[in-house]
Amino acid sequence: MGDLLSIEEALRLVLERARPLPSERVPVAEAAGRVLAEPAAASVDLPPFDSSAMDGFAVRAADTPGELPVRFRIAAGQPSPRPLEAGEAMGIATGAAVPPGADAVVPVEYVADHDNRVAIEQPVQPGASVRPRGGDARSGDPVVAAGERLGPAQLGALAAAGVAEVSCARRPRAAVLTTGSELRSPGDQLEPGQIYEANGVVLAAQLVSAGAEVERLPAVADEPGAHRDALERALSGDVLVSSGGVSVGPHDLVRSVGAELGIQQVFWRVAVKPGKPLWFGVRGETLVFGVPGNPVSALVSFELFVRPAVLALQGATEPGPRFGLGTLARAVRRNDARDELLRARSSVEDGELVLRPVTGQESHMIVRAAEADALVLVPRGDGEISAGERVRYLPLG
Ligand code: AMP
Ligand code: MG
Repeated sequence: MGDLLSIEEALRLVLERARPLPSERVPVAEAAGRVLAEPAAASVDLPPFDSSAMDGFAVRAADTPGELPVRFRIAAGQPSPRPLEAGEAMGIATGAAVPPGADAVVPVEYVADHDNRVAIEQPVQPGASVRPRGGDARSGDPVVAAGERLGPAQLGALAAAGVAEVSCARRPRAAVLTTGSELRSPGDQLEPGQIYEANGVVLAAQLVSAGAEVERLPAVADEPGAHRDALERALSGDVLVSSGGVSVGPHDLVRSVGAELGIQQVFWRVAVKPGKPLWFGVRGETLVFGVPGNPVSALVSFELFVRPAVLALQGATEPGPRFGLGTLARAVRRNDARDELLRARSSVEDGELVLRPVTGQESHMIVRAAEADALVLVPRGDGEISAGERVRYLPLG
């Protein structure tokens, strides 16, 4: 086992080959989950004008305390027709433009407002309850950096800053191909020896969540001709993920047929459990991942290697995998040869993130894995990790 690649080495070999795809213009309204190829800059100051933080009265701070006549009621989007003069107040709504001449807003809660006169008992500081123009960002300032993935806050920042379109790497086109003569679709009748095909739906969901456009191919029988046709077709995209057929059995054909089709192997087998037989290669610009067929192995291999690759193809600055820290709920034994990823259920107990490995950690046990929302990394070694120790984990979508 000493000759197997470590997770880190394998990941490095993958990421070296996952270069950002060409970019395209995307309307911000359609850019959720996309990664910016170029930084986006504010097209205006934000706020674009001095704006009121409260419903209240625009005044000159120097006129407070005092009783002032109220000249106008300024609404959001409807600026005052003239500047504020000394010795007067204007009613103002949250988000409305503070008129020239005013330097503070007194919240409506703090005043008595009668007969268009307002009595202000306490002195007000200049700038109070005013959001200064450009206080959030200046026109031309970067709003979101290149390599960032656009989540809700980033989309809001772009829209508020007046950015209508952004430049993003195009979505990776990914094909999912499952192999195994035993595989049948859910809904079909199983004959003896057959099982339901699970990996296609798992891998497609993972690819979509990583930002790829996915094409699923029908399951392929363990027969060289069928493999050849399906692999060739699936090789037309940026990423090919096949499942099964990468071990050492006589029916494991993905590597040999892949080699015939010109896929150059980068590595085969990683010191990880589950997922040891992972095969990775390239043909031209296409990245090819042959993940093992056991459903949990496929799921874990994807999170460790395929998701980071798909994000790197989109130019993500931090493609991951991004581990967090949590506390192990029960002792676990280490594997002496391979780093292990245990399926675990997380919970928050007294403010601590606690990770409880599920029962049933074998790589075919996808139903047990369905209880989990995290993968706990157990580095290879001797002995065990005790309950209560800090461990690294990967969240599961
Ligand atoms: P393989 O990697 O092809 O040797 O498959 C390993 C195990 O995973 C075998 O028990 C297969 O029947 C099972 N398996 C392979 N592909 C799938 C799939 N797409 N869905 C569910 N189980 C699978
Ligand atoms: Mg198989």
